[in-house]
Amino acid sequence: MLPLSSIPLTHLDSQTLLALLFWGNASTLILLTTYHHLSVRDTLTKLSYYYILAKVFQILAYFYLHSYYVYENTKIVYFGYFSFFAGYYLEAMSMLYIMDEKNKVLGYALFSIFLSTVVIFVLSEIYINDERVETLIVSLYLCFFFMIPSCTLFTQKNVPLFKKCVTVLYFCFASLMLPRGILALYDDSSMTTVMYTQSLTYLTLIVVLACGLMAYLLIIRENAARLIEKLATTDSLTGISNRHSFFDVATRVFNRQNFSHGTVSILFIDIDFFKKINDSYGHAFGDEVLMKLAETLRESVRPDDLICRYGGEEFLVLAAELDELATIRTARRIKETVESLRFVEDPSFRFSVSIGLVCDTPVGNDTLADFIERGDVAMYRAKAAGRNVIVAYRADRCLIVGGAGAMGGVPPAAAPAPAG
Ligand code: GH3
Ligand code: MG
Ligand code: MG
Repeated sequence: MLPLSSIPLTHLDSQTLLALLFWGNASTLILLTTYHHLSVRDTLTKLSYYYILAKVFQILAYFYLHSYYVYENTKIVYFGYFSFFAGYYLEAMSMLYIMDEKNKVLGYALFSIFLSTVVIFVLSEIYINDERVETLIVSLYLCFFFMIPSCTLFTQKNVPLFKKCVTVLYFCFASLMLPRGILALYDDSSMTTVMYTQSLTYLTLIVVLACGLMAYLLIIRENAARLIEKLATTDSLTGISNRHSFFDVATRVFNRQNFSHGTVSILFIDIDFFKKINDSYGHAFGDEVLMKLAETLRESVRPDDLICRYGGEEFLVLAAELDELATIRTARRIKETVESLRFVEDPSFRFSVSIGLVCDTPVGNDTLADFIERGDVAMYRAKAAGRNVIVAYRADRCLIVGGAGAMGGVPPAAAPAPAG
């Protein structure tokens, strides 16, 4: 077998490498627990628990395995191997979370491999008790565990670049472990011998430690960035877009339609007598009404249409390439669904909305703000017409296109009587 000293950068003995792995994992654990202790509690996700617990088991594993050199006690080495298996199982689980892998089957597969490896290891110790078999089992175990998170690359679309890098690295580690395990059967490699295969395995684990930590920190950063973006673009109560992010996207759609002479439809929706609802049923119930309306809007429009909470109890819908008849139909669908909504707190409670509707092809210097302004004008006409009404904007005279009169008999919103 090639002497270790002939391979550059691998001239290291296993004892030193085990000590390095111990201190590397210990300092990672100290850094992470301090970080999570000092930061907001919300940052501790399932991923963090798996990763931190993995570090705890890996510290124990390297402590026991290193102690084996000192005490030469086989019981110690069993504790070491168990902690080792548990540590890398937990690390692989955290890798699945890093890869955003929702597939539960992979999680169960990892757990089954962990359990069966522990059983096989114990049996091999009882019946075979050969260090080369131990090495083979450990190598195959690591091979599976590095391979499974890297499989996620094949099950996901649009994987970000950094996740691809982590996956490819893990795939390389996995590929290294397979020949190492087989080679172990033909040489005298064991935990305590100074062989280049052994040394390379420990070096790989040191690289895995660094890569895992890097991936973990990057994913925390990415999650934080995603959270900030979500908070900045969505309305926290209803979960739909806020006014700011709506304008960003809607302006792009509007300009595109302006350029291609396509139609833009706007629905300006305002809850009738919402102040009375708040006064009679309380603010929390008012919030529930807002959430139900947002849900109704989401279900009543096409997937590409935009919706947003424009202000307190005002909502907007923007649809491209919808003719006026289809826009009126959408508005009626919203109005009728709202009328049919029921609340467990008071099954007799009803509320309604007034809708201002605009459907036009932008010309010249028309802006999105102009269209919203027209929607607002039409919505105020709907209020003036008695509420629970749909009014279409016209430059000369707005038209009632849905409501009590127009639809033949839907009663206007029954505003709840003020409390007391
Ligand atoms: P109209 O039929 O003319 O539209 O009357 P209205 O009572 O619906 O309109 P008004 O503008 O008088 O009242 C709007 C109310 O909406 C006042 C405000 O307290 C309430 N509101 C605004 N934002 C929220 C919110 O987030 N939650 C709750 N529960 N109420 C809100
Ligand atoms: Mg209003
Ligand atoms: Mg209102």
